[in-house]
Amino acid sequence: MNHFEQIDGVLHAEQVPLPVIADAVSTPVYVYSRATLERHAQVFRDALSGLDNPHLAFAVKANPNLAVLKVLAKQGYGADVVSGGEMDRALAAGMEAEDIVFSGVGKTTDEIIRALKAGIGQFNIESEEEGGELAALANTMGHRANAVLRINPDVDAGTHGKISTGKADNKFGVGIHRAPEIYARLNALPGINMRGVALHIGSQLTSLDPLETAFLKIGGLVAELRSAGHSITHVDLGGGLGVRYKEGDNPPEPADYGAMVARVTKGWNVRLMFEPGRVIAGNAGVLLTRVIRVKPGSGNLPFAIVDAAMNDLARPALYDAWHDFEAVEPNGRRLTANIVGPVCETGDTFAMARDIDEIAAGDLAIFRTAGAYGATMASTYNSRGLVPEVLVDGDKFAIVAERIAPATILAAEHVPDWLE
Ligand SMILES: *Cc1c(COP(=O)(O)O)cnc(C)c1O
Repeated sequence: MNHFEQIDGVLHAEQVPLPVIADAVSTPVYVYSRATLERHAQVFRDALSGLDNPHLAFAVKANPNLAVLKVLAKQGYGADVVSGGEMDRALAAGMEAEDIVFSGVGKTTDEIIRALKAGIGQFNIESEEEGGELAALANTMGHRANAVLRINPDVDAGTHGKISTGKADNKFGVGIHRAPEIYARLNALPGINMRGVALHIGSQLTSLDPLETAFLKIGGLVAELRSAGHSITHVDLGGGLGVRYKEGDNPPEPADYGAMVARVTKGWNVRLMFEPGRVIAGNAGVLLTRVIRVKPGSGNLPFAIVDAAMNDLARPALYDAWHDFEAVEPNGRRLTANIVGPVCETGDTFAMARDIDEIAAGDLAIFRTAGAYGATMASTYNSRGLVPEVLVDGDKFAIVAERIAPATILAAEHVPDWLE
């Protein structure tokens, strides 16, 4: 469920008509709904109500906007961060350092030191080498860092290859068969408090089966580690729940996920941790765009050229992803068209031969389900501006990320004297 609906023939975000935002901010622009974010945060929390005090850490990479993080902080969410930049954002949004989990396969020395200084609650270690470095740095700083070892359970998540992270040949975590020996060596180091394991097998998962398979493997590993004498108090089950991008998509319901987790982890006797991203933010945002013009194709289908492009919303170009496209003020007629942006790449295609609302030059339209992995992946390719973001709350809205104009980006570039 989300709060982007037609009211009297005009698409609204909550109570704000989208043309009002387009007039105020211009297009393209991401529009987020606070009520939708809060609802999803609540639904996910409720789904886990059968567990004892689960730790909820929003995966910041899905939507790192400061105001979005603030909304989730007020919902009691911590953060899962994968860079120093994301850590700074989570802290700036008011999340407690203690509630922040630092994941990522390539934490730099500088990032580890900064995270130790900030008092980050947990490091999810992705290799023995990283664990060794963390332990040494923490030890010299007089810290003892909480850490869990990320396990690669070698499970096929059944999702797009580029967002699959739990197969043996993916770069993430340590192989489950090597985990006990690596865990034992890390556990012997000063400066580090090994307290459990983590996994995250991929994103946009549309079935619970691979998750259950992976969790069962982790349960076995927890028992094995315990019988080797380790104290396991935390298991981080990652994120990955899919969302509905198009009609017919049937992602798992959070409640069914919660029930599966409760069943599989019964008796583990640990604090479970979760890192949801897309399931919280995906349907809470749309990309608002204006049609530049409609040009006849040399085939039989016209090209609807919109002012949003692959630099603003990269998912179709990266993952062949589908985003529903709707006119803001539909006239009731339909059109079959290819939807493309202005960027000079054929990859800048949002949809081919799509049955859409009839649109003409100047009309507003949206791409739905753009609240996760949308603005956060934006670039300035083709010297386009960096797309702005707006947060709606009831009948009010605010710009929560300004458009960075091409001129601002140009001003940060310099021609050396010797080239003048
Ligand atoms: C990306 C990521 C997540 C969030 O994934 P979603 O599919 O958005 O829920 C969680 N944990 C880690 C380690 C990640 O890399």
